Amino acid sequence: MIISGSIKETREQVKEWKKQGLRVGFVPTMGYLHEGHQSLMEAAKKENDKVAVSIFVNPIQFGPNEDFASYPRDLEKDAALCERVGVDLIFHPEASEMYDEDFCTYVDMDGLTKELCGKSRPTHFRGVQTVVSKLFHIIPADRAYFGQKDAQQLAVIRKMVRDMSMDIEIIGCPIVREEDGLAKSSRNTYLSEEERRAALVLSRSLAEGKKLIQSGERDAGRIKACIMDVLKKEALARPDYVEIVDFADITPIEDISAAKNGEVLCAIAVYIGKTRLIDNFIWKY
Ligand code: AMP
Repeated sequence: MIISGSIKETREQVKEWKKQGLRVGFVPTMGYLHEGHQSLMEAAKKENDKVAVSIFVNPIQFGPNEDFASYPRDLEKDAALCERVGVDLIFHPEASEMYDEDFCTYVDMDGLTKELCGKSRPTHFRGVQTVVSKLFHIIPADRAYFGQKDAQQLAVIRKMVRDMSMDIEIIGCPIVREEDGLAKSSRNTYLSEEERRAALVLSRSLAEGKKLIQSGERDAGRIKACIMDVLKKEALARPDYVEIVDFADITPIEDISAAKNGEVLCAIAVYIGKTRLIDNFIWKY
């Protein structure tokens, strides 16, 4: 397995694979890898000849008061996991390799980024789109793998690729959870024991919302209220948002049976203590 911090070296290696006619799968991450990341790598491994993973805590997708400095990092452990899964290349650049001091070009979009996480993190998706565009240029893969855990991000990347005619296929992968239902996340390591228990309220509230839909409810307002009621009962939880949007364009929807492509995203963000966690489900019909 190659580990490289160099854009030039990484690009040359991937180009060499392409020249040999090999299909390349790519998994962008911020590291501190867990089974959620692993599921993306395994999907990439199954569907491609070579797998590249990037590990880069991208400074420009964090707001000024967010956790860029404290975000967990452990390259050695990450590299061991990648090796086990059979990853061929890890791209692990320094921030200075990715962003020159006079860096001033960004990728942004008008739609999709204003709702949900875009409201409380107004520059987040611009940072994500910019770094993912750069990574797609550095690692010209055939397919890139993203988790539904970050469903808005998945929708934004799909749209960016379509709008910019990028030559890469985007594959969405299901959310991997702990046994008790908590969605796996590098940020779960911030939680104290008590907060870890309280964090179960995210998946529990979504399960209640889903149950209501299964019983025939189609009014987004009533489904959101049901989820919010569950969240409010947990003293350590402070909801940032509970939203139901059309998954096609991340716009609010009232009647959940009226989504453009038949897919509705029900997404929540909740502070458990100081830690902001997200979770969601997609309702298809
Ligand atoms: P991150 O390192 O948090 O930027 O995540 C890198 C990729 O892994 C993103 O596409 C995430 O959506 C995906 N991911 C993170 N957690 C999970 C999870 N629990 N299940 C599935 N995919 C995940």
